[in-house]
Parts: sequence; C-alpha cells; structure tokens
Amino acid sequence: MIQYQIFPINPNSHLFEVLLSFKSTPGQSYTLSLPAWLPGSYMIRDFAKNITQIHAFDGQEQAIALTKLDKQTWSLQAQDGQVQVRYQVFAFDLSVRTAYLDSQRGFFNGSSTFLQVTELSELSCELIIQPSANTTHNQWRVATGLTRAKETEKFQFGRYIADNYQHLIDCPVAIGDFDCTEFTVEGVVHHLVFTSKHYGDTQRLAADVSKLCQHHINLFGEAPFKEYWFITHLQAQGFGGLEHKNSTILQASRFDLPNPQQIHADMSDNYKTFLSLCSHEYFHAWNVCRIKPKEFVPYNLQKESYTKQLWAFEGITSYYDDFSLYRTGLIDFEAYLAILAKTATRVFRGAGELKQSITASSFDAWTKFYQQGPDAVNNIVSYYAKGALIALWLDLTIRSKSNHQYSLDTLMRELWIHFGRTNTGTTEDDFINIANLLCGEDISTTFKRHLDSNERIDISKELAEYGVELQKKKFKKLNSLETTPATCYHAYLGAHYKAQTLGLVINQVLENSPAANAGLAVNDTLIAIDNIKITESTIQALFDHLSVNTELTCHFFRDDQLLSSTLQVTDSPLAGIAFKVVDNNLTKQWQEIIAAK
Ligand code: ZN
Repeated sequence: MIQYQIFPINPNSHLFEVLLSFKSTPGQSYTLSLPAWLPGSYMIRDFAKNITQIHAFDGQEQAIALTKLDKQTWSLQAQDGQVQVRYQVFAFDLSVRTAYLDSQRGFFNGSSTFLQVTELSELSCELIIQPSANTTHNQWRVATGLTRAKETEKFQFGRYIADNYQHLIDCPVAIGDFDCTEFTVEGVVHHLVFTSKHYGDTQRLAADVSKLCQHHINLFGEAPFKEYWFITHLQAQGFGGLEHKNSTILQASRFDLPNPQQIHADMSDNYKTFLSLCSHEYFHAWNVCRIKPKEFVPYNLQKESYTKQLWAFEGITSYYDDFSLYRTGLIDFEAYLAILAKTATRVFRGAGELKQSITASSFDAWTKFYQQGPDAVNNIVSYYAKGALIALWLDLTIRSKSNHQYSLDTLMRELWIHFGRTNTGTTEDDFINIANLLCGEDISTTFKRHLDSNERIDISKELAEYGVELQKKKFKKLNSLETTPATCYHAYLGAHYKAQTLGLVINQVLENSPAANAGLAVNDTLIAIDNIKITESTIQALFDHLSVNTELTCHFFRDDQLLSSTLQVTDSPLAGIAFKVVDNNLTKQWQEIIAAK
C-alpha cells in the first residue's frame, strides 16, 4: 500500500502540499515521476513543471538525496524501511486537465499531483484528503469517484482507496462548498456536482441527464460502475470535458444550465450543447475508458502514445452524443438534423478533409489537432466531426445491409463484450471485421477509403434511403456558419473574426477566399473597408449593399503596422450543409426503427 496525503495548505497562493509515504527495502532505488499527459487529452503537458519544494526523508526523518533524472522523474535510494516524500504543487489552472486551488474551491487530477513510484505502481493506494485549515472553509466537502474507506461518508474529507496508481489518477477530486443533486439509473447513483455559483434548474437537468444515462446503459447492456460523478466547473464562459471510468469533469458557463424560468419546450442551444457534452463524456465511460485502442493498453503516460483510432473513440462518441438526445426525446428530429448539419458543415467548409485522412489526424493529434495553428481550418480534418459522419455512414450502412436487424448499437455492444469487458485493446481491423459480419458482406474497401483517404465523405446516398436529402447551401452571414438556400446572392469574405474596441480581429482565414486573396491573415485587425470604419454590424451592412465582385480598399493593422489591400467581394460558396426531409414516409420508417432498437 502506498499512502498519499494532500493538504490545501495555501489557497491564496494556490498551493497543495502532498506527502507520499511507502514501505521500502533498505538500499533499493525507487523512481518517482509524474505523467507527461493524461488519458483523454492527447497533448504533452509536462505536469511536473508545477512541482516545487520536493524533499525526501527516511523513517527517522533523516533527509534522503533526490536525483532528478529528467523533466518529470526523480530517483532516490531508501535508507531504511520507510520513505516519505513531501512536495508542493502549484495549482492555478481552471481547465478540466490539471489542478486548481483558491479561496473559493479546489480541484485536482492525480496525474498533476501524485508522484508515481514506478517500482510499486501496481500496489493499492490510500489517499487522505485533508481539509483546509482556514475556518471560512468549514462548509467545504469532497466529490470524487474514488472508493471511500469504510469510515468515510460520502462528501467527507478523509481516507479514500484506489486499486493502483492508474486507478488513483483516473479519479479527479473536487473540494469546496458546492451544490449537488443526484439521481439513480439501473440502481447506479449518479451525482451532479457544481463547483461554483449557478442559477440553473438542477431537477430538470437531473431528469434530462438520467434519460441519456439510461440510453447508454441500454445500448451497452450494463453499467460497469457502482456510482458515477458529473463534476462541473462553472465559469463566466467555458466549454469542455474529460472522461474517466466513473466520473467526468465538465466545464461550462453558469448560464448553460436550464433556466428555471423557462418552460420545457424552450430548450436553449447552450443547454442542448451542455446535455450533449454530458452524453459525450458518459459514453466515453465505455468507449475509450474501457474499450481502448491497443496502443493504450496499458497507457504509457511518459511520452506520446500514437494511435490511428481516435476517429472511432471520439467520432463514434460524438455521433452518439447528439443522436441520444433525439432518441431519448430531448430534442425532435428537425433539431437533430440541424445539429448534424452543423457537424457536416464543419467538415465540408474547409480543405482539411482533402489534405489529411482521419486516421492521420488521429495519429498526429498530439501536434496538430491539440495544437491548432492559424492554418487549422485549411489543413486539419477533425476526427471528432468527420468521425461522427463516418459513424452515421456506418450506422445507416449496417442497418440497411442487415435489413434493420443490426446497427452501430450492435457493433458497440460487440466491442464492449469482446474488448471492453476483457480489457483487450482494439485494432482498426476489429471495427471493420465486426462491421463486415453485421452487414453480411465485405464493406472493407469503402470503410477503409473513408478512414485512410483524403477524399470528401459523401453520405447522400445512405440518407436518401431514409427520405433525407443532403443539400449544399450558402452561408447566410459573413461571420457565421448558419446556412441559407442557394438561390440568392450572399456576400462572402472567407474569414471569421471577433469584434474589439478598434475593429475586427481575424481569427480564421479560409484559403483561396476573398480575405486570403486580399492578404488578410489571422491576428490582423481589420479597421476600415472602402474607408468606412468597420464594426461587426457595419461590415455586414456594407457587404449586404454591394453587388458581387465589387472591389474595395481595406485597411488593417498587422502587429503595429497599418497596411492596405484590395478586397473583392464574392458570392458565398456552396460550402454549408443542410439536411432536409423530402419523403416523410421513408423518414418516419427510419424514426420508428431508431426508436425501436
Ligand atoms: Zn471525447
């Protein structure tokens, strides 16, 4: 058994102190390290950079020398039967990935805070979470998916248990005076924790999220956890989530939660997106936390772990996150098609799909998808968005070829039984082989082309079978992905921007667009067009008054230099996607089949 104790020693300086203790063999060397990345977020983050004041002692409190081997690894030699290592962790990152502490709340991922003892990583771990000494924090409680020791009540500070180091770091911990509600699905208690002030209707949220949980449990056939924690960091703005085996850490705006003043029919887009995020991370409890690419069994958290399969783990999960909202009746079919159209538009509007396959995007996630530069919209394809379209294609194909006997649900259940339950890593061929079996024919060639080629995916044929037409549309406004019918002229710039006190700061430029041809680049501040001062509303009004191909002078700052160029306004390309029901009978059949399975 390895013991960790964590103390919020100085909330105002954002410092946790950790005391690590383990029984040692005198004379033996031990290696201590922190991960360089954490599962679910595929980027090297070098968590050890936040460790300070690290010291080691033996059982007699005598100092033991620590030798630093690299950016995240130390070694020591035990002097007697006990080693203690005391260190501090600077915790001031409000993201879901690391650790945070201030006078309002605390949060930590074990991957940022608990040093692994390499030689003892399979031993069980005991974590003692100590309360803050500050009496104004008397109301603080604990929320975590870690197993509580016998004497520890739910929400209490005290002793928690993990099977081994991997288990310890898969259970992030929130502490604070938080709001919490719970609901039960299939005998599993689910907690909804909000770590900051909010105004939301948590009863409605619990009722809605429980439907999604029931859907996913039904899909896989069982819940592989005894309890589950949705821990949400609420901020002014923010969006994101990170999956764990029996919990998820979410980040959202305070106002994304359902408004208690609104009736059910008025579900805001932000609330839909939040529900979809809950659905996404909960689906991951099976798909990626337990069904994993073989490269992640076991995880090597010391350096990049390359896999071509993120399209399956993020793409299929992204498909089901919105699809389950429709299937559980939280949104109607029209709303579902609108969400699907946005996903398709995100893939279709840029040239990334023509330059990078989805398997290459998965493989290079570490340096490309997770470190997107100004060229991302032109050179990267999202394994989330295109992965979701491939999942849709796969679902429709399996349904059609098996005469509606099977679907992507069946494929996921097979994966769960053969790979998830047994902790066996998947290969890409496992997905293809199961799909072939369910289809009753070999669909490998098309499947592999969708995965490995730099071609646009076309799902219009599959959708047409169900009375849904894929339509190519223009963009309605300059700075939005909202689409409009192709019949009339809609001015197009090919750049997205954010309004600032002075002008518009460009944050995206599509290649070969009017903006690119004028030489505008990301981070330029556009201040005038045709010698008219530009704001978010005036640029739209100006463009709406001009005929196609009008040439205009534009002025912009690049860094602190004022530059000018000529901008030619064009008609919007047909780069937006919409899905329209054109045969109600066919679509109704599809809806009935989806609901039945
Ligand atoms: Zn995900």
